[in-house]
Amino acid sequence: MGASGKGPHPTGKGALGAGAPGPGWLKGKAAALVLSFDVDAEAAILPYGRRYAEHAMVMTHQAYGPLVGVPRLLQLLTDVALKATFFIPGLTAERYPEMVERVAAAGHEIAHHSFSHRSAVTLTPDEERLDFERALDALGRLGVRPVGHRAALWEATWRTPALVAEYGLLYDSSLMDDDRPYLLETGNHAIVELPPHWSLDDWEQYAYLPQPSIGQHIESPTKLLELWSGELDAMCHYHCLCMVTCHPFLSGRPSRIEALRRFIEFAAARSDVDIVTAEEVARRAAADATLARRRPVPLGVNAEVYPDA
Ligand SMILES: [Zn+2]
Repeated sequence: MGASGKGPHPTGKGALGAGAPGPGWLKGKAAALVLSFDVDAEAAILPYGRRYAEHAMVMTHQAYGPLVGVPRLLQLLTDVALKATFFIPGLTAERYPEMVERVAAAGHEIAHHSFSHRSAVTLTPDEERLDFERALDALGRLGVRPVGHRAALWEATWRTPALVAEYGLLYDSSLMDDDRPYLLETGNHAIVELPPHWSLDDWEQYAYLPQPSIGQHIESPTKLLELWSGELDAMCHYHCLCMVTCHPFLSGRPSRIEALRRFIEFAAARSDVDIVTAEEVARRAAADATLARRRPVPLGVNAEVYPDA
């Protein structure tokens, strides 16, 4: 990786803007919508301290996701006859194997979401690799071989894409320098990046706990519906990937799941929006010869200009 930081940022070729004809991966549609569900459960909390394992309110707040949220979401997806992508940490898979089997039996995609849900930027390279392998092992014991990866908290390191490629996965969904798929060169072969964004994440609207401080939000589901519908409309103009991220412990609550149903119905009513799994988008993107190609370029930072580590 070039780390001098002196050159310009590579913009890649084939990037499309407003008014351009739709890219090949969209197959004539204006935009693609992926419904992704991060089943973080208890793993979202334990990085704040393993003492929270003794905290029954906090642990049960998180267990609501696999116990109640996921079954309701599976019913919703059956109602609307759509497939979705479930990013499941290895710890969640070990604690709730029946939930994983139910998701798989319903035909949804299951993808890699770390083992422990610790932020990779807090780990050493060896720790990041070990956690990555543990996640593969946990899913593998349940017969799941994921093709996609999402870093816990989206906090990938510059090493992460090469790890995703090394273990033979097709795509990552953690980086934020686009709102369309692109090819990401790594130290190994290239992978597809499917960028998410905070504005399409239910966490920013709904995450509330007194402790640990995961958020202080209990927003109206109507607000989320307005935000996401407006974003999808605009994304049709710019030919984007609308990567919605929901957490069953948050969006499994009744008024929230019904807002999600209305959002899905809004998207489905637009004939120019394709609602598909992340794997399907990644496969289409990988086959699109016009896809933008990028490589990670860490900044080389001058310690005299930025003295704080
Ligand atoms: Zn997560």
